[in-house]
Amino acid sequence: MMGHTHVLSGAVAFLAVAGPLSEHVLPLGPAAVAVGTLVAAGAAMLPDLDHHNGTIANAFGPISRLLCRLVAALSGGHRHGTHSLIGAAVFTGLALYAGRDRWAFTVALWLCMGLAVRGLWRRPKNRPNGRFDYRDIAGLVHAAVAFLAAYQIAHSSIDLTVVPWAIAIGYLTHLTGDSLTEQGVPWLGPAPHRYRIASIDTGKAVETWVVVPALYAGLIATAFLTYSN
Ligand SMILES: [Zn+2]
Repeated sequence: MMGHTHVLSGAVAFLAVAGPLSEHVLPLGPAAVAVGTLVAAGAAMLPDLDHHNGTIANAFGPISRLLCRLVAALSGGHRHGTHSLIGAAVFTGLALYAGRDRWAFTVALWLCMGLAVRGLWRRPKNRPNGRFDYRDIAGLVHAAVAFLAAYQIAHSSIDLTVVPWAIAIGYLTHLTGDSLTEQGVPWLGPAPHRYRIASIDTGKAVETWVVVPALYAGLIATAFLTYSN
């Protein structure tokens, strides 16, 4: 599944639950909804931190490649530990912990927002030789800009208690999305069985011309519904 699809579905999922969440659990102002949408969009990329050569690995140049290698080593490789409920619990737990510390919060926001923006760009070409080039410099500049934005938000007066919710929602949206593909997802990992809701081989053209426009439409519709009542 393309990064683009994951990012948009994370945003749509958050907006879809923002109304009931705000009404019954955690009152959300417009700024908190905006931050939550952005964070959920980025959190919908987090499970693929276990992929050493994907969109995420190249998002922040050498920083993200190192991070991906580390996560892959800890989680057992692509579509293993991070693609399970335990992986979702670990990342949500980290986000809860980050809720107590503005700097840890800055890092969590940095990662999510940076990945959300990167996920919407074109997927970079794989580089088997791994040599440092201009894309790494672009990644590092992107990392610096995302960090500044995250710092500003984390140190503003916006109530950030929404962030762990957004991370959990975005993360689970990714696992659900991957469950629609042939490979399936080991939801109950470390148990090896992979669960599959469907086995759609979306393909790039279908995703680009059908799924992504549908998600944009969903994003506009849910944003409209959230704000019109
Ligand atoms: Zn995945």
